[in-house]
Amino acid sequence: ITQGLHRSLQRHPGKDALIHLGVGAPRRLRFDELVSGVSRLAAALAGNGVRSGDRVALLGPNDDRLVQALLACWWLGAVPCPLNTRWSAPELADALTDSAAVLLLADESLTHLVPQPEPPLLTLDAFAAQGREHSEFPDTRTGGDALAAILYTGGTTGRAKGVMLSHGNFWAATVARGAELPNSPDSVALLVAPLFHVAGLGRLLGQLIVGGTSITLARFQPDRVLDAIEHHAVSDIVVVPTMLQSLLDAPEFRRERVLGLTRVAFGAAPMPPDLLGRALDELPMAQFFQAYGMTETAGAVCMNPPANHRAAARAQGLVNSVGRAGLGSEIRVVDEEGRDVRRGEVGEVIVRGPMVMSGYWRQPETTQAAFRDGWLRTGDAGRMDESGHLFIVDRLKDMIISGGENVYGGEVETVLRGHPAVAQAAVVGVPDERWGEAVHAVVVLRTGSAPIESDVLREWCRQRLAGYKCPRAFSFVRELPMSGAGKVLKGVLREQVRG
Ligand code: ATP
Ligand code: MG
Repeated sequence: ITQGLHRSLQRHPGKDALIHLGVGAPRRLRFDELVSGVSRLAAALAGNGVRSGDRVALLGPNDDRLVQALLACWWLGAVPCPLNTRWSAPELADALTDSAAVLLLADESLTHLVPQPEPPLLTLDAFAAQGREHSEFPDTRTGGDALAAILYTGGTTGRAKGVMLSHGNFWAATVARGAELPNSPDSVALLVAPLFHVAGLGRLLGQLIVGGTSITLARFQPDRVLDAIEHHAVSDIVVVPTMLQSLLDAPEFRRERVLGLTRVAFGAAPMPPDLLGRALDELPMAQFFQAYGMTETAGAVCMNPPANHRAAARAQGLVNSVGRAGLGSEIRVVDEEGRDVRRGEVGEVIVRGPMVMSGYWRQPETTQAAFRDGWLRTGDAGRMDESGHLFIVDRLKDMIISGGENVYGGEVETVLRGHPAVAQAAVVGVPDERWGEAVHAVVVLRTGSAPIESDVLREWCRQRLAGYKCPRAFSFVRELPMSGAGKVLKGVLREQVRG
Protein backbone atom coordinates (compact mmCIF):
# COMPACT_ATOMS: atom_id res chain seq x y z
CA ILE A 1 0.00 0.00 0.00
CA THR A 2 2.71 2.48 0.91
CA GLN A 3 4.03 2.94 -2.61
CA GLY A 4 0.69 4.35 -3.69
CA LEU A 5 -0.28 5.84 -0.35
CA HIS A 6 2.83 7.87 0.28
CA ARG A 7 2.63 9.51 -3.11
CA SER A 8 -1.04 10.33 -2.51
CA LEU A 9 -0.27 11.92 0.84
CA GLN A 10 1.89 14.48 -0.92
CA ARG A 11 -0.63 15.51 -3.54
CA HIS A 12 -2.79 17.80 -1.41
CA PRO A 13 -0.33 19.39 1.04
CA GLY A 14 -2.57 22.22 2.22
CA LYS A 15 -5.74 20.23 2.80
CA ASP A 16 -6.98 18.88 6.11
CA ALA A 17 -5.99 15.22 6.39
CA LEU A 18 -7.10 14.44 9.93
CA ILE A 19 -9.37 16.11 12.43
CA HIS A 20 -9.69 14.57 15.87
CA LEU A 21 -12.70 15.46 17.95
CA GLY A 22 -11.67 14.85 21.51
CA VAL A 23 -12.05 16.96 24.60
CA GLY A 24 -11.45 20.63 23.89
CA ALA A 25 -10.89 22.12 20.46
CA PRO A 26 -10.64 19.82 17.42
CA ARG A 27 -7.04 18.85 16.55
CA ARG A 28 -6.38 19.43 12.85
CA LEU A 29 -3.54 18.13 10.74
CA ARG A 30 -2.93 19.10 7.12
CA PHE A 31 -1.45 16.57 4.69
CA ASP A 32 1.96 18.32 4.70
CA GLU A 33 1.98 18.25 8.50
CA LEU A 34 0.93 14.62 8.45
CA VAL A 35 3.77 13.60 6.13
CA SER A 36 6.38 15.50 8.08
CA GLY A 37 5.03 14.21 11.41
CA VAL A 38 4.92 10.62 10.21
CA SER A 39 8.47 10.69 8.88
CA ARG A 40 9.73 12.09 12.21
CA LEU A 41 7.82 9.41 14.08
CA ALA A 42 9.46 6.81 11.84
CA ALA A 43 12.79 8.21 13.05
CA ALA A 44 11.53 7.92 16.63
CA LEU A 45 10.62 4.27 16.03
CA ALA A 46 14.10 3.62 14.69
CA GLY A 47 15.46 5.42 17.75
CA ASN A 48 13.59 2.88 19.90
CA GLY A 49 15.35 0.05 18.12
CA VAL A 50 12.52 -0.84 15.73
CA ARG A 51 13.73 -2.10 12.38
CA SER A 52 12.09 -2.88 9.09
CA GLY A 53 9.98 -6.06 9.43
CA ASP A 54 9.62 -5.74 13.23
CA ARG A 55 6.13 -5.84 14.71
CA VAL A 56 4.88 -2.80 16.60
CA ALA A 57 1.72 -3.25 18.67
CA LEU A 58 -0.71 -0.33 18.70
CA LEU A 59 -3.39 0.09 21.32
CA GLY A 60 -5.71 3.04 21.43
CA PRO A 61 -9.08 4.40 20.46
CA ASN A 62 -9.42 6.10 17.07
CA ASP A 63 -7.47 9.35 17.03
CA ASP A 64 -4.84 11.29 15.10
CA ARG A 65 -1.96 9.89 17.18
CA LEU A 66 -2.95 6.31 16.46
CA VAL A 67 -3.22 7.05 12.73
CA GLN A 68 0.22 8.65 12.71
CA ALA A 69 1.76 5.77 14.65
CA LEU A 70 0.36 3.34 12.12
CA LEU A 71 1.66 5.33 9.16
CA ALA A 72 5.05 5.75 10.86
CA CYS A 73 5.39 1.96 11.02
CA TRP A 74 4.83 1.78 7.28
CA TRP A 75 7.20 4.68 6.63
CA LEU A 76 9.90 2.65 8.35
CA GLY A 77 8.85 -0.71 6.86
CA ALA A 78 7.74 -2.07 10.24
CA VAL A 79 4.59 -4.16 10.76
CA PRO A 80 1.83 -2.54 12.83
CA CYS A 81 -0.34 -4.87 14.92
CA PRO A 82 -3.39 -2.87 16.03
CA LEU A 83 -4.92 -4.43 19.13
CA ASN A 84 -8.52 -4.44 20.23
CA THR A 85 -9.15 -1.80 22.89
CA ARG A 86 -11.98 -3.88 24.36
CA TRP A 87 -9.78 -6.84 25.17
CA SER A 88 -9.17 -7.79 28.79
CA ALA A 89 -5.65 -7.83 30.26
CA PRO A 90 -5.15 -11.58 29.59
CA GLU A 91 -6.36 -11.22 26.00
CA LEU A 92 -3.96 -8.33 25.44
CA ALA A 93 -1.11 -10.30 26.98
CA ASP A 94 -1.91 -13.19 24.62
CA ALA A 95 -1.88 -10.98 21.55
CA LEU A 96 1.35 -9.28 22.59
CA THR A 97 3.05 -12.64 23.00
CA ASP A 98 1.48 -13.95 19.81
CA SER A 99 2.58 -11.01 17.68
CA ALA A 100 6.06 -10.95 19.26
CA ALA A 101 5.91 -7.16 19.02
CA VAL A 102 9.17 -5.37 19.86
CA LEU A 103 7.39 -2.24 21.04
CA LEU A 104 3.93 -1.30 22.25
CA LEU A 105 2.49 2.16 21.64
CA ALA A 106 -0.54 2.60 23.86
CA ASP A 107 -3.05 5.22 24.84
CA GLU A 108 -2.53 6.53 28.38
CA SER A 109 -5.94 5.29 29.49
CA LEU A 110 -5.15 1.66 28.63
CA THR A 111 -1.64 1.14 29.94
CA HIS A 112 -2.90 -0.43 33.18
CA LEU A 113 -4.14 -3.40 31.13
CA VAL A 114 -0.75 -4.08 29.66
CA PRO A 115 1.72 -6.64 31.00
CA GLN A 116 5.17 -5.26 31.76
CA PRO A 117 8.13 -5.13 31.21
CA GLU A 118 7.84 -6.92 27.83
CA PRO A 119 7.46 -5.57 25.25
CA PRO A 120 8.69 -2.05 26.10
CA LEU A 121 5.79 0.36 26.34
CA LEU A 122 5.62 3.93 25.15
CA THR A 123 2.47 5.98 25.57
CA LEU A 124 1.16 7.64 22.43
CA ASP A 125 1.82 11.07 23.94
CA ALA A 126 5.41 10.19 24.84
CA PHE A 127 5.87 8.83 21.34
CA ALA A 128 4.49 12.03 19.80
CA ALA A 129 6.90 14.07 21.94
CA GLN A 130 9.82 11.94 20.74
CA GLY A 131 8.73 12.49 17.14
CA ARG A 132 9.02 16.26 17.54
CA GLU A 133 12.68 15.87 18.56
CA HIS A 134 13.67 13.90 15.51
CA SER A 135 14.33 15.09 12.00
CA GLU A 136 12.69 13.57 8.96
CA PHE A 137 13.40 9.99 8.02
CA PRO A 138 13.57 8.55 4.50
CA ASP A 139 10.53 6.61 3.30
CA THR A 140 11.49 2.95 2.94
CA ARG A 141 8.79 2.37 0.30
CA THR A 142 7.92 -1.15 1.34
CA GLY A 143 5.33 -2.79 -0.85
CA GLY A 144 4.17 -5.83 -2.77
CA ASP A 145 4.20 -9.11 -0.89
CA ALA A 146 5.96 -7.72 2.17
CA LEU A 147 3.98 -8.13 5.37
CA ALA A 148 2.11 -4.87 6.02
CA ALA A 149 0.15 -5.63 9.18
CA ILE A 150 -1.15 -8.28 11.48
CA LEU A 151 -4.83 -7.65 12.08
CA TYR A 152 -6.80 -9.70 14.55
CA THR A 153 -10.18 -11.11 13.53
CA GLY A 154 -13.33 -10.07 15.35
CA GLY A 155 -13.28 -13.05 17.71
CA THR A 156 -16.95 -13.70 16.99
CA THR A 157 -16.60 -17.47 16.69
CA GLY A 158 -13.71 -18.04 19.08
CA ARG A 159 -10.31 -16.68 19.92
CA ALA A 160 -9.26 -13.86 17.58
CA LYS A 161 -6.74 -14.98 14.97
CA GLY A 162 -3.83 -12.87 13.71
CA VAL A 163 -4.16 -12.34 9.96
CA MET A 164 -1.07 -11.62 7.87
CA LEU A 165 -1.89 -8.96 5.30
CA SER A 166 0.59 -7.73 2.73
CA HIS A 167 0.92 -4.27 1.25
CA GLY A 168 -0.46 -5.74 -1.97
CA ASN A 169 -3.52 -7.09 -0.10
CA PHE A 170 -4.38 -3.64 1.27
CA TRP A 171 -3.78 -2.00 -2.07
CA ALA A 172 -6.05 -4.47 -3.87
CA ALA A 173 -8.82 -4.04 -1.30
CA THR A 174 -8.55 -0.24 -1.37
CA VAL A 175 -8.63 -0.07 -5.15
CA ALA A 176 -11.56 -2.50 -5.35
CA ARG A 177 -13.64 -0.40 -3.00
CA GLY A 178 -12.68 2.82 -4.77
CA ALA A 179 -13.73 1.32 -8.08
CA GLU A 180 -17.19 0.56 -6.78
CA LEU A 181 -17.78 3.70 -4.75
CA PRO A 182 -15.44 6.38 -6.10
CA ASN A 183 -14.36 8.77 -3.46
CA SER A 184 -13.72 12.45 -3.96
CA PRO A 185 -11.02 14.61 -2.37
CA ASP A 186 -13.82 16.86 -1.10
CA SER A 187 -15.28 14.10 1.01
CA VAL A 188 -15.15 14.21 4.79
CA ALA A 189 -15.32 10.76 6.34
CA LEU A 190 -16.19 10.15 9.97
CA LEU A 191 -14.17 7.20 11.27
CA VAL A 192 -16.13 5.69 14.12
CA ALA A 193 -15.59 2.04 13.24
CA PRO A 194 -12.45 1.07 15.18
CA LEU A 195 -9.17 1.25 13.28
CA PHE A 196 -8.09 -2.11 14.71
CA HIS A 197 -10.74 -3.78 12.55
CA VAL A 198 -10.44 -3.98 8.83
CA ALA A 199 -13.55 -1.89 8.11
CA GLY A 200 -12.24 1.16 9.95
CA LEU A 201 -8.68 0.81 8.74
CA GLY A 202 -9.82 0.26 5.16
CA ARG A 203 -11.92 3.40 5.22
CA LEU A 204 -8.98 5.43 6.52
CA LEU A 205 -6.74 4.19 3.71
CA GLY A 206 -9.34 4.88 1.05
CA GLN A 207 -9.75 8.39 2.36
CA LEU A 208 -6.02 9.15 2.62
CA ILE A 209 -5.43 7.89 -0.90
CA VAL A 210 -7.88 10.29 -2.52
CA GLY A 211 -6.85 13.22 -0.36
CA GLY A 212 -10.12 13.40 1.53
CA THR A 213 -10.45 14.44 5.16
CA SER A 214 -10.84 11.89 7.94
CA ILE A 215 -12.44 12.76 11.26
CA THR A 216 -11.80 10.55 14.25
CA LEU A 217 -13.92 10.08 17.34
CA ALA A 218 -12.66 7.88 20.15
CA ARG A 219 -15.94 6.16 20.76
CA PHE A 220 -19.25 5.70 19.06
CA GLN A 221 -21.69 7.87 21.00
CA PRO A 222 -24.77 8.74 18.98
CA ASP A 223 -25.05 12.32 20.24
CA ARG A 224 -21.38 13.05 19.46
CA VAL A 225 -21.65 11.38 16.07
CA LEU A 226 -24.69 13.52 15.24
CA ASP A 227 -22.84 16.64 16.42
CA ALA A 228 -19.85 15.75 14.26
CA ILE A 229 -22.01 15.16 11.20
CA GLU A 230 -23.83 18.42 11.68
CA HIS A 231 -20.93 20.71 12.57
CA HIS A 232 -18.01 19.24 10.61
CA ALA A 233 -19.58 18.76 7.21
CA VAL A 234 -19.31 14.98 7.35
CA SER A 235 -20.27 13.43 4.02
CA ASP A 236 -19.27 9.79 4.53
CA ILE A 237 -19.65 7.32 7.32
CA VAL A 238 -18.94 3.61 7.74
CA VAL A 239 -21.08 1.85 10.29
CA VAL A 240 -21.95 -1.59 11.52
CA PRO A 241 -25.71 -2.22 11.70
CA THR A 242 -25.90 -1.74 15.47
CA MET A 243 -24.38 1.75 15.12
CA LEU A 244 -26.96 2.66 12.51
CA GLN A 245 -29.70 1.45 14.81
CA SER A 246 -28.46 3.50 17.76
CA LEU A 247 -28.13 6.59 15.55
CA LEU A 248 -31.71 6.31 14.35
CA ASP A 249 -32.98 5.54 17.85
CA ALA A 250 -31.08 8.41 19.48
CA PRO A 251 -33.36 11.05 21.00
CA GLU A 252 -31.05 13.65 19.37
CA PHE A 253 -31.65 12.29 15.88
CA ARG A 254 -33.34 14.71 13.52
CA ARG A 255 -33.24 14.49 9.77
CA GLU A 256 -32.15 18.13 9.41
CA ARG A 257 -29.00 17.36 11.36
CA VAL A 258 -27.74 14.78 8.91
CA LEU A 259 -28.59 16.36 5.58
CA GLY A 260 -24.89 16.61 4.68
CA LEU A 261 -24.42 12.88 5.05
CA THR A 262 -24.43 11.71 1.46
CA ARG A 263 -22.87 8.27 1.80
CA VAL A 264 -23.51 5.56 4.32
CA ALA A 265 -21.43 2.40 3.97
CA PHE A 266 -22.19 -0.56 6.16
CA GLY A 267 -21.14 -4.14 6.69
CA ALA A 268 -19.27 -6.43 9.11
CA ALA A 269 -22.47 -8.07 10.33
CA PRO A 270 -25.83 -9.03 8.83
CA MET A 271 -28.00 -5.99 8.17
CA PRO A 272 -31.55 -6.63 9.39
CA PRO A 273 -33.88 -5.77 6.47
CA ASP A 274 -36.26 -3.80 8.69
CA LEU A 275 -33.40 -1.62 9.96
CA LEU A 276 -32.12 -1.00 6.45
CA GLY A 277 -35.62 -0.08 5.27
CA ARG A 278 -35.93 2.38 8.10
CA ALA A 279 -32.51 3.90 7.40
CA LEU A 280 -33.37 4.33 3.73
CA ASP A 281 -36.55 6.17 4.73
CA GLU A 282 -34.95 8.33 7.40
CA LEU A 283 -31.86 9.27 5.37
CA PRO A 284 -33.35 9.81 1.92
CA MET A 285 -30.49 12.04 0.74
CA ALA A 286 -27.79 9.46 1.41
CA GLN A 287 -26.44 6.84 -0.93
CA PHE A 288 -26.16 3.44 0.72
CA PHE A 289 -23.43 0.94 0.09
CA GLN A 290 -23.02 -2.50 1.62
CA ALA A 291 -19.66 -4.24 1.90
CA TYR A 292 -19.07 -7.87 2.68
CA GLY A 293 -15.62 -9.06 3.55
CA MET A 294 -13.46 -10.22 6.36
CA THR A 295 -10.17 -9.48 8.04
CA GLU A 296 -8.70 -12.28 5.93
CA THR A 297 -9.51 -10.30 2.77
CA ALA A 298 -8.17 -6.91 3.90
CA GLY A 299 -11.59 -5.37 3.31
CA ALA A 300 -14.57 -5.92 1.08
CA VAL A 301 -14.79 -8.64 -1.54
CA CYS A 302 -18.47 -8.11 -2.35
CA MET A 303 -20.13 -4.76 -2.66
CA ASN A 304 -23.75 -3.77 -3.09
CA PRO A 305 -23.78 -0.36 -4.78
CA PRO A 306 -26.17 2.54 -4.17
CA ALA A 307 -28.23 1.61 -7.24
CA ASN A 308 -29.32 -1.60 -5.52
CA HIS A 309 -30.72 0.40 -2.63
CA ARG A 310 -33.15 2.41 -4.75
CA ALA A 311 -36.85 1.67 -4.94
CA ALA A 312 -36.87 -0.72 -7.92
CA ALA A 313 -34.06 -2.83 -6.51
CA ARG A 314 -35.74 -2.75 -3.12
CA ALA A 315 -38.80 -4.32 -4.67
CA GLN A 316 -36.67 -7.04 -6.26
CA GLY A 317 -34.98 -7.84 -2.97
CA LEU A 318 -31.52 -6.87 -4.23
CA VAL A 319 -31.32 -4.39 -1.38
CA ASN A 320 -30.73 -7.30 0.98
CA SER A 321 -27.85 -8.71 -1.03
CA VAL A 322 -24.23 -8.10 -0.05
CA GLY A 323 -23.66 -7.43 -3.72
CA ARG A 324 -21.44 -8.89 -6.39
CA ALA A 325 -17.75 -9.75 -6.43
CA GLY A 326 -15.73 -6.55 -6.46
CA LEU A 327 -12.81 -5.67 -8.70
CA GLY A 328 -10.24 -8.47 -8.69
CA SER A 329 -12.10 -10.89 -6.45
CA GLU A 330 -13.83 -14.12 -7.41
CA ILE A 331 -16.61 -15.61 -5.34
CA ARG A 332 -18.11 -19.09 -5.47
CA VAL A 333 -20.67 -20.95 -3.40
CA VAL A 334 -19.74 -24.59 -2.87
CA ASP A 335 -20.85 -27.76 -1.10
CA GLU A 336 -18.86 -29.72 1.46
CA GLU A 337 -16.72 -31.31 -1.24
CA GLY A 338 -15.90 -27.96 -2.78
CA ARG A 339 -18.17 -28.35 -5.82
CA ASP A 340 -20.25 -25.41 -6.98
CA VAL A 341 -23.84 -25.68 -5.82
CA ARG A 342 -26.62 -24.70 -8.21
CA ARG A 343 -27.40 -20.99 -8.37
CA GLY A 344 -29.85 -20.10 -5.65
CA GLU A 345 -28.80 -22.93 -3.37
CA VAL A 346 -27.03 -22.38 -0.10
CA GLY A 347 -23.42 -23.44 0.36
CA GLU A 348 -20.15 -22.12 1.74
CA VAL A 349 -18.87 -18.88 0.27
CA ILE A 350 -15.28 -19.14 -0.94
CA VAL A 351 -13.09 -16.31 -2.24
CA ARG A 352 -9.98 -15.84 -4.35
CA GLY A 353 -8.18 -12.65 -5.29
CA PRO A 354 -5.27 -10.31 -4.69
CA MET A 355 -6.72 -9.07 -1.38
CA VAL A 356 -6.74 -12.50 0.26
CA MET A 357 -4.26 -13.00 3.13
CA SER A 358 -1.26 -15.26 2.85
CA GLY A 359 -2.29 -16.95 6.10
CA TYR A 360 -2.76 -16.70 9.84
CA TRP A 361 0.26 -15.52 11.78
CA ARG A 362 2.16 -18.48 13.22
CA GLN A 363 -0.77 -20.85 12.71
CA PRO A 364 0.14 -23.12 9.78
CA GLU A 365 -2.56 -25.68 10.54
CA THR A 366 -5.37 -23.16 10.82
CA THR A 367 -4.09 -21.57 7.64
CA GLN A 368 -4.12 -24.86 5.80
CA ALA A 369 -7.66 -25.57 6.92
CA ALA A 370 -8.77 -22.12 5.75
CA PHE A 371 -7.77 -22.72 2.13
CA ARG A 372 -8.89 -25.26 -0.42
CA ASP A 373 -7.15 -25.30 -3.82
CA GLY A 374 -6.08 -21.69 -3.38
CA TRP A 375 -9.56 -20.49 -2.38
CA LEU A 376 -10.24 -18.99 1.04
CA ARG A 377 -13.12 -20.62 2.91
CA THR A 378 -15.07 -17.83 4.54
CA GLY A 379 -17.06 -20.03 6.92
CA ASP A 380 -20.14 -18.11 5.80
CA ALA A 381 -23.22 -19.76 4.35
CA GLY A 382 -24.64 -17.93 1.36
CA ARG A 383 -26.48 -18.23 -1.90
CA MET A 384 -25.90 -16.51 -5.19
CA ASP A 385 -28.63 -15.58 -7.65
CA GLU A 386 -28.43 -15.82 -11.44
CA SER A 387 -27.06 -12.29 -11.70
CA GLY A 388 -24.18 -13.03 -9.32
CA HIS A 389 -25.64 -11.24 -6.32
CA LEU A 390 -24.63 -12.90 -3.09
CA PHE A 391 -26.87 -13.26 -0.04
CA ILE A 392 -25.30 -14.24 3.26
CA VAL A 393 -27.67 -16.42 5.28
CA ASP A 394 -25.64 -17.44 8.32
CA ARG A 395 -22.27 -18.55 9.57
CA LEU A 396 -21.76 -22.25 8.92
CA LYS A 397 -20.90 -22.70 12.60
CA ASP A 398 -24.24 -21.19 13.63
CA MET A 399 -26.42 -23.05 11.18
CA ILE A 400 -29.03 -25.18 12.93
CA ILE A 401 -29.90 -28.65 11.66
CA SER A 402 -33.34 -29.61 12.89
CA GLY A 403 -34.97 -32.85 11.79
CA GLY A 404 -32.42 -33.07 8.96
CA GLU A 405 -33.35 -29.64 7.61
CA ASN A 406 -31.01 -26.64 7.60
CA VAL A 407 -32.26 -23.60 9.42
CA TYR A 408 -30.49 -20.31 8.77
CA GLY A 409 -30.64 -17.94 11.70
CA GLY A 410 -30.99 -14.79 9.64
CA GLU A 411 -34.30 -15.84 8.13
CA VAL A 412 -35.92 -16.62 11.48
CA GLU A 413 -34.47 -13.50 13.10
CA THR A 414 -35.85 -11.30 10.32
CA VAL A 415 -39.34 -12.70 10.88
CA LEU A 416 -39.10 -12.19 14.63
CA ARG A 417 -37.86 -8.62 14.22
CA GLY A 418 -40.89 -8.00 12.07
CA HIS A 419 -43.12 -8.32 15.14
CA PRO A 420 -43.93 -4.88 16.52
CA ALA A 421 -42.93 -5.79 20.09
CA VAL A 422 -39.52 -7.18 19.14
CA ALA A 423 -36.40 -5.00 19.09
CA GLN A 424 -33.78 -7.69 18.54
CA ALA A 425 -33.75 -11.43 18.09
CA ALA A 426 -31.17 -14.15 17.78
CA VAL A 427 -31.73 -17.87 17.32
CA VAL A 428 -29.45 -20.73 18.27
CA GLY A 429 -29.70 -24.52 18.11
CA VAL A 430 -30.11 -26.53 21.29
CA PRO A 431 -29.67 -30.33 21.47
CA ASP A 432 -33.00 -32.10 21.08
CA GLU A 433 -33.63 -35.83 21.35
CA ARG A 434 -36.20 -35.94 18.64
CA TRP A 435 -34.93 -33.33 16.14
CA GLY A 436 -31.18 -33.43 16.72
CA GLU A 437 -31.27 -29.69 17.27
CA ALA A 438 -34.19 -27.45 18.06
CA VAL A 439 -34.48 -23.76 17.27
CA HIS A 440 -34.38 -21.56 20.34
CA ALA A 441 -35.11 -17.85 20.02
CA VAL A 442 -33.68 -15.20 22.32
CA VAL A 443 -35.65 -11.98 22.13
CA VAL A 444 -35.14 -8.42 23.30
CA LEU A 445 -38.43 -6.57 23.51
CA ARG A 446 -38.80 -2.94 22.53
CA THR A 447 -38.52 -0.54 25.42
CA GLY A 448 -41.98 0.32 26.61
CA SER A 449 -43.58 -2.71 25.03
CA ALA A 450 -45.73 -4.87 27.31
CA PRO A 451 -44.58 -8.42 28.12
CA ILE A 452 -45.62 -10.84 25.43
CA GLU A 453 -46.45 -14.56 25.55
CA SER A 454 -44.20 -17.01 23.76
CA ASP A 455 -47.31 -18.40 22.08
CA VAL A 456 -47.95 -15.10 20.34
CA LEU A 457 -44.47 -15.09 18.82
CA ARG A 458 -44.71 -18.79 18.00
CA GLU A 459 -47.92 -18.15 16.10
CA TRP A 460 -46.35 -15.12 14.38
CA CYS A 461 -43.54 -17.37 13.12
CA ARG A 462 -45.88 -20.21 12.11
CA GLN A 463 -47.72 -17.90 9.78
CA ARG A 464 -44.51 -16.85 8.08
CA LEU A 465 -42.07 -19.77 8.24
CA ALA A 466 -42.01 -23.50 7.54
CA GLY A 467 -42.71 -25.54 10.70
CA TYR A 468 -39.14 -26.83 11.17
CA LYS A 469 -37.81 -23.23 11.18
CA CYS A 470 -40.14 -22.04 13.93
CA PRO A 471 -38.58 -21.64 17.37
CA ARG A 472 -39.64 -24.36 19.82
CA ALA A 473 -38.70 -22.22 22.80
CA PHE A 474 -38.20 -18.55 23.59
CA SER A 475 -36.24 -16.64 26.17
CA PHE A 476 -36.56 -12.95 26.84
CA VAL A 477 -33.50 -10.96 27.79
CA ARG A 478 -32.57 -7.30 28.23
CA GLU A 479 -29.67 -7.44 25.80
CA LEU A 480 -27.87 -9.90 23.56
CA PRO A 481 -24.20 -10.71 24.14
CA MET A 482 -22.37 -8.61 21.54
CA SER A 483 -18.77 -8.38 20.38
CA GLY A 484 -17.02 -5.02 20.26
CA ALA A 485 -17.62 -5.02 16.52
CA GLY A 486 -21.37 -5.18 17.04
CA LYS A 487 -21.89 -8.86 16.26
CA VAL A 488 -24.04 -11.23 18.29
CA LEU A 489 -21.83 -13.76 20.08
CA LYS A 490 -23.80 -16.88 19.28
CA GLY A 491 -21.35 -19.16 21.09
CA VAL A 492 -21.98 -17.26 24.32
CA LEU A 493 -25.70 -17.26 23.65
CA ARG A 494 -25.75 -21.03 23.07
CA GLU A 495 -24.05 -21.55 26.43
CA GLN A 496 -26.53 -19.26 28.16
CA VAL A 497 -29.49 -21.04 26.59
CA ARG A 498 -28.17 -24.54 27.21
CA GLY A 499 -27.47 -23.51 30.79
P1 ATP B 1 -13.74 -14.50 13.97
O1 ATP B 1 -13.22 -14.86 12.62
O2 ATP B 1 -12.64 -14.26 14.95
O3 ATP B 1 -14.78 -15.42 14.48
P2 ATP B 1 -15.21 -12.42 12.61
O4 ATP B 1 -15.37 -13.43 11.52
O5 ATP B 1 -16.43 -11.74 13.08
O6 ATP B 1 -14.47 -13.07 13.87
P3 ATP B 1 -14.15 -10.34 10.92
O7 ATP B 1 -13.07 -10.77 10.01
O8 ATP B 1 -14.08 -8.97 11.46
O9 ATP B 1 -14.15 -11.32 12.17
O10 ATP B 1 -15.56 -10.46 10.24
C1 ATP B 1 -15.80 -11.16 9.04
C2 ATP B 1 -17.16 -11.81 9.08
O11 ATP B 1 -18.17 -10.83 9.31
C3 ATP B 1 -17.56 -12.49 7.80
O12 ATP B 1 -17.02 -13.80 7.68
C4 ATP B 1 -19.09 -12.48 7.92
O13 ATP B 1 -19.54 -13.56 8.72
C5 ATP B 1 -19.38 -11.19 8.64
N1 ATP B 1 -19.74 -10.12 7.68
C6 ATP B 1 -18.94 -9.19 7.14
N2 ATP B 1 -19.62 -8.36 6.33
C7 ATP B 1 -20.89 -8.80 6.34
C8 ATP B 1 -22.08 -8.37 5.69
N3 ATP B 1 -22.10 -7.32 4.88
N4 ATP B 1 -23.22 -9.07 5.93
C9 ATP B 1 -23.21 -10.14 6.76
N5 ATP B 1 -22.13 -10.59 7.40
C10 ATP B 1 -20.98 -9.93 7.20
MG1 MG C 1 -14.03 -14.84 10.77
